[in-house]
Parts: sequence; C-alpha cells; structure tokens
Amino acid sequence: MAARGCVRCSELSATRTTVVFGSGNADAELMFVGEAPGANEDLQGLPFVGAAGKLLEQLLGEIGLSRAEVFIANVLKCRPPGNRDPQPGEIENCRPYLLRQIELIEPRVICTLGNFATKLLRADPAGISRVHGEPEVRTIGSRSVRLYPLFHPAAALYTPRTLESLRADFQRLPAILALPAPPAPPAAAEPTDAPEHAPEPAPAPAPAESPSEQLGLF
Ligand code: URA
Repeated sequence: MAARGCVRCSELSATRTTVVFGSGNADAELMFVGEAPGANEDLQGLPFVGAAGKLLEQLLGEIGLSRAEVFIANVLKCRPPGNRDPQPGEIENCRPYLLRQIELIEPRVICTLGNFATKLLRADPAGISRVHGEPEVRTIGSRSVRLYPLFHPAAALYTPRTLESLRADFQRLPAILALPAPPAPPAAAEPTDAPEHAPEPAPAPAPAESPSEQLGLF
C-alpha cells in the first residue's frame, strides 16, 4: 500500500511536505496512535517530534520504555493545513493505512492518543475525557487487541490536570502490557474493524461538547 504518493485527500496532498507514515519498532507490542502530523512532523517526516513528542518520550521513559521500542503512528498521515482538525472524509481515506499498519505490526496494546484516534479505533463517539484510562479488548481487522485510550500529550502540555491524568494512566501501562494476549476473535466472525457489539460508525468529527472538545484534544 503506497502512502508516500497518496493523493486521496486533494487538500492534504497539495499542502503537505511529507507523508508521515509512522516510526519505531515494526514488531512492537505497544503502539501509539495520535491525531495527525504537525509542522515539525511534516518537515521531518516523523511522528511526534515536537513538544508533544518530547512529553510522550518522557512519559515512556518514566515507565522504562524508549521510543525505539514502540511504534508511533497517526490517524492521518498528512498534516492538515494550519493544524486544523482532521475531517471525516480524510479520516476515512486514511483509515486503510492505519489498519494495515496494525495488521503488520500486530501490537498487543494500542494506546489511542486523544479524541480522533480513540473515536476511530473504538468505533464509538464517546470522548476521551470519558474513556481514558480504561483498557478494553477490541477486534481490529482480524485480531483482538487491548485498546487503551489516553489523553493526547498536546492537551497535557497546557493543562496540569490533564498531565496528571495522562501520567497516572501511563503508570498503568506496564500492568496492561503484562496481561496475556487477548483471545482471538471467534473464527466464524466476519473480520471487521468495528467492535463486535457496535455497528460501523462514521468517524466522528469532534462534536461541540465543550470548547476543549472542539479542539479535538479531550
Ligand atoms: N500530534 C499528533 O497527533 N501527531 C504527531 O505526530 C504530532 C503531534
């Protein structure tokens, strides 16, 4: 699947510098999925290399992990101009790339960072403020994974209480990683990227639940 020359989103493909596919250990047990590249990521071609990335690295270090041990990707592989929110059509266009990455890397645990990744991979519009820190087994493609929604590190940069929550949730990651691999989904089940109990949703644009929801960070 060639993302490098992708032109599925006309605006993003016209304005990006680089397609930021992801980086890290392709055999990682732990994968992080953020929102979309920002300016630094777009220039360097790597995810989470700005201030939010530094915080992510610091939190990883606090639980004895390095960036090189995990895999980091985003919902969108191209920077939205001006760092605007990803649009539903863009999320849909880019979804196959993320699903393929998950299929190839076969992580046991996926941390979704912020609303966009959480809503997409949980296939549910519940916001990150409600579901952060609650691990759950989900079927993604043909595999079961433990999804662990976390606040986006960019949100934690400016809000001490969010940083406190994010750090507390991070501290529980080693225990979640130590759990046995989730049981494979029933063989008879149609492979799906939606949870067994919910219909396929449209990827939700951040609903205007509050100003912070509008920012797409909570
Ligand atoms: N924020 C994201 O969601 N992804 C990045 O790669 C950088 C910042």
